[in-house]
Amino acid sequence: MKWYQMDVNDVERKLHVFTEKGLSYKQVEQRQKQFGLNTLQTAKKQPIWVLFMKQFQDFMVIILLAATLIAGMLGEYIDAIAIMTIVLLNGFIGFFQEQKAEKSLEKLKELSAPKIRVLRDGEWSTIPSEQAVVGDVIRIITGDRVPADFRIVKSNGLETEESTLTGESLPVEKTSTAIKRDNLTMQDQSNIGFKSTLVTKGSGIGIVVQTGMNTAIGQIASLMVKTEKVITPLELKLIELGKVLIYVVFLLTALTVGVGIYHGQPLYDMVLAGVSLAVAVIPEGLPAIVTVALSLGVQRMIKRKAIVRKLSAVETLGCASVICSDKTGTITENKMTVKEMFLNNQNIFVTGEGYATTGEFYANDQKINNTFPNLESMLLYGLLCNEASLLVKKGKYMIDGDPTDGALLIAARKMGLSHVVKDQFKMIKQFPFDSTRKRMSVIVEDENNRRFLISKGAPEMIVPRCTFMMHEDGRQLLKSTKHIEAKMNHMAEKALRIIAISIKPLQKGDRLDISSLEKDLTFIGLFGLMDPPRKEVKKSIEQCKAAGIKTVMITGDHKKTATAIAKEIGLQTSENDLVLEGYELNNMDVNELVKMIDRVAVFARVTPEHKLKIVQAFQKRGHIVAMTGDGVNDAPAIKASNIGVSMGMSGTDVTKEASSLILMDDNFNTIKEAIREGRNIYENIRKFIRYLLASNVGEIFIMLVAMMLALPLPLVPVQILWVNLVTDGLPAMALGLDPPETNVMKQKPRDPKEGVFSRGLGFKIISRGLMIGIVSLIAFMITYDNNPENLTYARSVAFTTLVVAQLIHVFDCRSEQGIFSRNPFSNFYLIGAVLSSLLLLLVVLYVESLQPIFHTMSLGLRDWLFIIVLSALPTVIFGFSSKR
Ligand code: ADP
Ligand code: MG
Repeated sequence: MKWYQMDVNDVERKLHVFTEKGLSYKQVEQRQKQFGLNTLQTAKKQPIWVLFMKQFQDFMVIILLAATLIAGMLGEYIDAIAIMTIVLLNGFIGFFQEQKAEKSLEKLKELSAPKIRVLRDGEWSTIPSEQAVVGDVIRIITGDRVPADFRIVKSNGLETEESTLTGESLPVEKTSTAIKRDNLTMQDQSNIGFKSTLVTKGSGIGIVVQTGMNTAIGQIASLMVKTEKVITPLELKLIELGKVLIYVVFLLTALTVGVGIYHGQPLYDMVLAGVSLAVAVIPEGLPAIVTVALSLGVQRMIKRKAIVRKLSAVETLGCASVICSDKTGTITENKMTVKEMFLNNQNIFVTGEGYATTGEFYANDQKINNTFPNLESMLLYGLLCNEASLLVKKGKYMIDGDPTDGALLIAARKMGLSHVVKDQFKMIKQFPFDSTRKRMSVIVEDENNRRFLISKGAPEMIVPRCTFMMHEDGRQLLKSTKHIEAKMNHMAEKALRIIAISIKPLQKGDRLDISSLEKDLTFIGLFGLMDPPRKEVKKSIEQCKAAGIKTVMITGDHKKTATAIAKEIGLQTSENDLVLEGYELNNMDVNELVKMIDRVAVFARVTPEHKLKIVQAFQKRGHIVAMTGDGVNDAPAIKASNIGVSMGMSGTDVTKEASSLILMDDNFNTIKEAIREGRNIYENIRKFIRYLLASNVGEIFIMLVAMMLALPLPLVPVQILWVNLVTDGLPAMALGLDPPETNVMKQKPRDPKEGVFSRGLGFKIISRGLMIGIVSLIAFMITYDNNPENLTYARSVAFTTLVVAQLIHVFDCRSEQGIFSRNPFSNFYLIGAVLSSLLLLLVVLYVESLQPIFHTMSLGLRDWLFIIVLSALPTVIFGFSSKR
């Protein structure tokens, strides 16, 4: 017997589970041990030692190691061991950084891993889908990626798209009936949901029958997930830059070595110095440090409730110039409450806040109860035509499902109607809500076997389909809809979201075909729902504006409702801010839209299909667009946008997969936070690129020019490598953690086409670098001139000057406004890094046993005064110059 041939009861018996209760935690534990996690195997990871060895695969490093080996064999033990140690240390640091980056990326994957709804020990909860076991009772809804192969027990218009498995792109309808035939292809197994397929419609409950590699998709070996490293645009640019720089550095070191030998330096000394210089100066580690900085930034974003799914999004975030945000749930709280009703041509007001289930109904300032004509019926219809359910958690009511539906449940509860009443009706068929139809319908049968259709949705979708209207004394022909429209406008102006509700009696024999049924309805009334804007939104929108980022609100709600909210949050401040409606978009081609799109503040009454057009129009206007979405139909627009944003709480798997940013709290404010962080990360990357390259320019300058002036080597190989490891490495990392400057959100978005060295960075690198080289060389020359017999002395002074000059310069790198624009103590890590670099400098200068290794000697107070004055020069001079 195959799963699809069995009746649900047999499946339950075989897997020892009841659909009403789910597995017990004990069973789950056992099965997890037995079958393992519900994951598809990924490609094998490389062993740690391979990853470690990769640190040394760089060509110049190999040469250096070879040269050191030769030095060792020639008897230069001390030098050889010192160099080896530094190279090894360097490798370790690089290795740990990369591991750390790797870990934080893995954590990201974990955070954005799909979740499923599962029933265990009689309680529904949400768990990571990899923890599902055979026998679990799960519930899936539109937009889910099916977590495992499961036998369907209950289907509410469930449809899945199985092209990943069968190649068939049309959705398949899923039911719970057993199929007795044998040898069915996957397409025909209409009561089985397959792992990794997509739920395109409806919802369903089922029992998991296969997990992990045992699922149909797991059996297809060719689909094994490969983990590939994706390179971000910035990393790519730096890799390209690195290639160019290698040649430049190679040329310059070759020149240094050549000139040195020409001036009579010993060949052996020159080669070792040359190779060390090349290793120190070639910024081969730059892309790796950028990855580390990006992934550290990603961790900071997680703290701010933003999950980045693609590292490249961190870069793009800083360029965003438009945020297109859904209103419901992102700008508003998505905590809806019925505040008003319209029934029998009368206004009814409902009291009670949020999800509290107590409240009263008032008409004409009079409290009313269930004797008020039609009131109870209207609330009952809202309860029946409903996809949400009420949960009690820790004594508090919560909504599971659509908050709009949830509000109707709460309203019904205020009249004493609960799921107990609902269970007295038989659900014949459901036509779930979707944002394009803007309505949902159900067919129910009461205890007397009478069937009727209930339709609820946006009023302009329901009212035109009504031929009758319910009055106090029964059903009457609906002659004019004017009074309904007047009431709608009135509600919308108060920022209420409006739901119209209607019914229609059916005959038993009627075909259950939705398009023929939804007409000649009887209008019952309107619900007016309050969904207040989130508190932080107004300020966030203001801050975005200051940062040159335009915010646009998108909603399926009524124009007036949308406008009222827009005014409240400061989106629509004057008549020049347009509100466009869905039907206007239909009559416009993209080019027409492009012309006016900069003036649009709100898109109302739109369907998800319109979002794509909106994204395209903004992009044609040259914008970098962030677009939010939650439903399945939002996925194309999210994909087309530059930064697709999905909702962590209310979003579907499909939209999450299409997005590059997930908002854990669904909050608009989080987008702004992510952009701010994105801008800061990019600026920090620029800071350490600037620092590292300027340092390198200085190092190569002192060596090259000293050779040209026929001087002895101003720095020995160990010193060069030490500078590279200690002075360059630590502070550069700390720059990557620099807090944002106060003006990050006061500047225009960055042009995505801008190069790494734009906005004067190239000039800064060269000018500061040269100055650092010059002062170090001066320090060397003066000391050497005065003490020609003591080369170690001159080298120690030059070495110290170079290090101190760099450690001062690092503070200049923190701002493009110059060193005096920021409090030097505001980056704790940097202070720590600089202090430890200084400490290590003192150690190599003053610890006697280390002096022979580093070719150093103790310096006196006068030396230090000399060094400090010289090394402050590069930063001070440019700090005061107006051109910077
Ligand atoms: P948005 O999420 O942008 O506010 P939707 O597309 O969800 O817009 O909703 C559009 C309209 O459809 C709403 O104004 C409301 O009238 C109606 N509507 C929303 N949710 C439901 C629902 N669950 N059942 C029936 N009608 C709904
Ligand atoms: Mg919605």
